[in-house]
Amino acid sequence: MHIALAYFIRNRNRHPIGKEMHFMIFNVAQLMKSPVGTSLTADILEENVLLDEELKVIGPIAGRVRMRRINQGLLVDGRVDLTLELSCTRCLKQFEQPMHVPFEERFYPTIDVITGAPLPPAEEEDVFPIDDHHQIDLTEAIRQQVLLNIPMVTLCKEDCAGLCSQCGHDLNLGPCDCKPDEVDERFSVLNTLLQNGLQA
Ligand SMILES: [Zn+2]
Ligand SMILES: [Zn+2]
Repeated sequence: MHIALAYFIRNRNRHPIGKEMHFMIFNVAQLMKSPVGTSLTADILEENVLLDEELKVIGPIAGRVRMRRINQGLLVDGRVDLTLELSCTRCLKQFEQPMHVPFEERFYPTIDVITGAPLPPAEEEDVFPIDDHHQIDLTEAIRQQVLLNIPMVTLCKEDCAGLCSQCGHDLNLGPCDCKPDEVDERFSVLNTLLQNGLQA
């Protein structure tokens, strides 16, 4: 069963904040009253969001979410596309990194959708709440997935040449005048052996 999108179109018109559109929060009261297996899909669009103090998001976060009624609440999955400003591990330059981030989370109610009576907190871990206005907020779930999807090493381009370890010159712009690094102590013995070998 699939609830028409009409509900969300109405919901959209009710919640514009200024001129920006914010669709990371969804009212799921109707879905919570529906039988297990009922699902609906909606667009995610957030034009101006502070996802995390450490993250600079450039432009909107956009995507699609599916919410499915399960026994204890909702299974919520989808994906978002966004662009982050990251700094290159090698040359330290800021660059824009487009990202495609899938997510899947469970949301359990904090109050009974029919009676309004408070419900005991979820026993399972990693479950997000459906608040007492029957709303789910995807911001935290998306923030966690975005952080998990940022690689340890972020490069402005795959073959970034990095900075000269002596003068700091950006080697992507061409070579500098520095002499090659002093050879590491551990290798000097090897070098001597090699040279002796060549001379022999
Ligand atoms: Zn770089
Ligand atoms: Zn240099």
